[in-house]
Amino acid sequence: MDKLKRTLTLRGWFRLMAVSLVLVFLLFEARLVQQEWRQLQRAEEGQQAVARLRLALVAAEMVSRERGPANGVLGDATPAGSPALREALREARARTDAALAALLQALRREAGHARYQQALDKAHAMQAALQQARGAIDREAALPLPQRQPEAIRQSVRGMVALVPMLAPTITVLADDAQLADPRLGASVWAARLSAELREYAGLLGSLFTPALTRQQRLTPEELAAVERVKGRIDELRHLLDLRVGQIEGANAVLAAHDLMERRYFGKAAQLVDTVLTEGQARGQFGMTPAGFAAAYVPDMNSILALRDALLDSADQHCARVRARSQQWLIGVLAATSLLMGLVLLMLRVAHQRFVQPLSQAAEVLHAMSAGDLSRELPKAVAGDEFAEVFGGINALKQQSLASAALELERDKLIVSLREQSTTDFLTGLPNRRAFFEAAEAELARARRHGFQLVLMLLDVDHFKKINDTAGHAAGDLALKAVAHTLSHSRRQGDLVARLGGEEFVVLLTHCEPDDGYRFAERLREGLAAQDIPVAQGQPALRLTVSVGLAVSGAHGLVLDTLLARADDAMYKAKHAGRNRTEVAVSDTASA
Ligand code: GH3
Ligand code: MG
Ligand code: MG
Repeated sequence: MDKLKRTLTLRGWFRLMAVSLVLVFLLFEARLVQQEWRQLQRAEEGQQAVARLRLALVAAEMVSRERGPANGVLGDATPAGSPALREALREARARTDAALAALLQALRREAGHARYQQALDKAHAMQAALQQARGAIDREAALPLPQRQPEAIRQSVRGMVALVPMLAPTITVLADDAQLADPRLGASVWAARLSAELREYAGLLGSLFTPALTRQQRLTPEELAAVERVKGRIDELRHLLDLRVGQIEGANAVLAAHDLMERRYFGKAAQLVDTVLTEGQARGQFGMTPAGFAAAYVPDMNSILALRDALLDSADQHCARVRARSQQWLIGVLAATSLLMGLVLLMLRVAHQRFVQPLSQAAEVLHAMSAGDLSRELPKAVAGDEFAEVFGGINALKQQSLASAALELERDKLIVSLREQSTTDFLTGLPNRRAFFEAAEAELARARRHGFQLVLMLLDVDHFKKINDTAGHAAGDLALKAVAHTLSHSRRQGDLVARLGGEEFVVLLTHCEPDDGYRFAERLREGLAAQDIPVAQGQPALRLTVSVGLAVSGAHGLVLDTLLARADDAMYKAKHAGRNRTEVAVSDTASA
């Protein structure tokens, strides 16, 4: 970590920070979205569970309703029932089948879950039992009325009555499921279930009076006991239903349906039941047929189903509301987080543009400046902030550095020029005396090391004073330049040529035997003497001669001063001998 702290650049830090920030943000957003998504899914699941529960309750209701026409056919004098009764039974069975098929289909879709598989199995078992019960009824009803045995009829009726409880496990699974998806659905779902059961018991209670009403006789003690049992259960269910409905908040439709049921079933229908019960315990003169009883009883009983439907509707609406709210939240969360994210990115971008980028560019420029590269352009300050001041400072620094670099360049040029001047003769461009001495010493040292010979040659222009006097100083200068030009173009590679001063030149011939040196000197002298030197326009070309003195290392050793002195001697000798000639210095031993 410490290493990271030290090695990461500001730009790197900024990237790291930006990426972390965006990641944290995305995580936060994902969490929120996931929560809302889950809520949305649960609402959908709840809604589907309520729909499935409705299918199951309706299937149970249809099975229960089928009992009416079935009993009608069983009690009818015509074998297999009158056409009207038969039609009513056929229709009722078709409705049951349709409701059951819808339920089975819905359960099959969820059969992947073990609970649903069980619920499906139970529903299938019920369907099989239904077919059996229907078969028993059809067989019994097909007999002529006198042959139908009361016990067999009771068996057939019981077969139908036993069907609805067979659906109870399925209904429990579905109601549980709805409550699991959303616990707030509990009250309405269970109340719907209770109302379905209440409707079942209300139907049973009605059917308990049918035999007595048919006979127009008092209720038997068994019938009375059964009525009391069913009434007790109905009271129990009413109480439970009251409690559940009381728990449901803000469902006006449910309250209205509950009120209606209280008035119609527990008001009107209960009064009818009381009347029939009182008469059934007294004389059994009811003054109404079973059909008359049913016509008065069944419509009020339907108010229980209306409550059941209102409860299911309210559960469904609750889910729809939660769903819509979750959807809105989801959209809201996405929009808000996207907006915030955009804002964060924008701020990061601005921070990058305004601080990080200029700073790192400035750092690069400073770095380049410290390495001597002043060509790098400084970024423009985005705003008139502290950075603008920093850049201003750097710019001033850069200008100063540029100025001092220019000065340094000037100084270097000057030094070079001075050095040149100090070693170069300004008139002829040849090395001057000083430069010659330096180079010649080095060359002599090499000769000493490697044992080669060299020849030193001194040249002096003859009667140069006269040239100056007659042709002018400028022509004299031109003549000196011409001599220098010829000398430097005649020398071999490695030879040193220099102007020692005035009209005196020197050539150091390296790796040179005395004879070769002499020949070279003669050639040069003759060449110079034959050379026309053009001066000013209109003036005749100049001619000059030189006197040459040679000293050879073989005879005079490898000390520059000695060689120069000997060559000088030889040169004077040439002057005295009449000029325009070459003399070789005699060896020291020879002169001694
Ligand atoms: P000698 O044959 O004995 O060498 O005679 P000289 O006239 O050449 O010798 P002297 O030493 O008397 O004269 C040299 C003259 O060269 C004197 C001086 O004015 C001239 N001189 C020296 N340097 C320059 C120069 O750079 N340009 C010109 N034009 N003349 C120069
Ligand atoms: Mg001279
Ligand atoms: Mg001279």
